[in-house]
Amino acid sequence: MLSVQLMKDVPDVIVIGGGPVGSFTALKLAKLGAEVAVFEEHNAIGSPSHCAGHLSIRSLRNLGLYPLPREIVENTFSQANFYSPSGFKFSVHLAKPVTCSVNRAAFDRYIADKAEAAGARCCLNSRVQSLLIEDGAVKGVTVKQEDKAERFRANIVVDAEGISSRILRQTGLAGLNGERLVYGVEAEVENVKDMEPDAVEVFLGKAYAPGFYAWLMPRLDGTAKVGLATKTGNPKEFLQRLMLKHPVASKQLSKAKITRTAFHPITLGGPISKAYTSGFLAVGDVASQVKPTTGGGVVFGLTCAGIAAEVADEAVRRNDVSSHFLQMYQKRCADTLGFDFGVMLRIRRFLDSLSDEKIDEVLRFCARIGLNKTLENVEEIDFQGQLLLKILTKPAMFAALAYFLKLYLSANP
Ligand SMILES: Cc1cc2nc3c(=O)[nH]c(=O)nc-3n(C[C@H](O)[C@H](O)[C@H](O)COP(=O)(O)OP(=O)(O)OC[C@H]3O[C@@H](n4cnc5c(N)ncnc54)[C@H](O)[C@@H]3O)c2cc1C
Repeated sequence: MLSVQLMKDVPDVIVIGGGPVGSFTALKLAKLGAEVAVFEEHNAIGSPSHCAGHLSIRSLRNLGLYPLPREIVENTFSQANFYSPSGFKFSVHLAKPVTCSVNRAAFDRYIADKAEAAGARCCLNSRVQSLLIEDGAVKGVTVKQEDKAERFRANIVVDAEGISSRILRQTGLAGLNGERLVYGVEAEVENVKDMEPDAVEVFLGKAYAPGFYAWLMPRLDGTAKVGLATKTGNPKEFLQRLMLKHPVASKQLSKAKITRTAFHPITLGGPISKAYTSGFLAVGDVASQVKPTTGGGVVFGLTCAGIAAEVADEAVRRNDVSSHFLQMYQKRCADTLGFDFGVMLRIRRFLDSLSDEKIDEVLRFCARIGLNKTLENVEEIDFQGQLLLKILTKPAMFAALAYFLKLYLSANP
């Protein structure tokens, strides 16, 4: 990693943030031949980590990131167990592993190393304090390293600062919807009992994770990751309640020892309406490119990072970094993900409207109609709008379609 003083010439693109999305943008740009510099405020890539790292294998493959080195992958999963608040279990067994959990710090470092190997410059301990804005256009950044602040100019600044949105606000763009945030806790635990080694456990219900869900993911080394997010209240207290009181999770976790916890918000409101302005693109969590159903932001963030890199590179080559040209970024993101975001926002609203009793009823209904059979050959779980279209058009799913439509309409008159 370079120190910021070593960077004297003007790069084509400056990326704010060395998270997965910032580093992937830099990787793509470097591969396209652009000069790119990443500023990361921490002294190491990937830490502190706050993420469960549950990712779709197919999506990673499509992004050119799978197979991953063995030390990054903690486990792969071909089963999901969904528990209603009363403890009713609906299991889906898939024909082969469809998701994996990764060590997020190692995953982030892997992408950053690839970006550096492709020619990107990564500067650690380099906190972007502010944008340089001239005549309404972003022209660079001011970076603080130790006690010194320095200005760096670039043709385009890509903001991948994550959910905090401090830099985005300086552009005057409207940030993500604060009312659609949930507050997450992610913990690592030892001494968990009765885990199925290839199953992700999902716990639903207002008593344990109001406005979201809780999860338990075994690792191959016998430890596990457990976490949840909540719309209201203190996530730490909900985690304790889950581990001690939940009819199923408490049997697995009541004797477990927590070895690490991290807290961080998750944005569920769907992409911000405008993620560009002259000389500037926002990508990843800062642009709320996160699945409103599951809170997964890595794959959609990386997908948009690829688009941001292509548009930024083209803008630099054409010498046109105007807002008018950069709007192509928003359009291409919407073309790629807009349908799925629309469906997932509706599913999120629908899930939020269900009482605990209804969740119980819905899971029992899914088991009764054999939804697990319909899902067993599913390989793609990120693009949930397309997935829903695929499964609901199967004749066996007509009953499900009628049932969910009725529930949805009664919740959203
Ligand atoms: C509890 C929890 C569990 C989650 N589980 C999953 C999951 O299983 N699967 C999934 O896909 N997603 C999950 N997510 C979401 C996922 O973590 C995010 O979507 C993803 O990390 C977004 O990547 P990013 O690069 O946009 O932002 P971040 O990962 O937040 O990276 C932003 C980077 O920018 C740096 N930075 C910020 N400001 C500045 C600045 N001013 N100057 C320089 N550097 C700066 C930060 O230090 C950081 O390194 C989870 C989130 C939470 C909270």
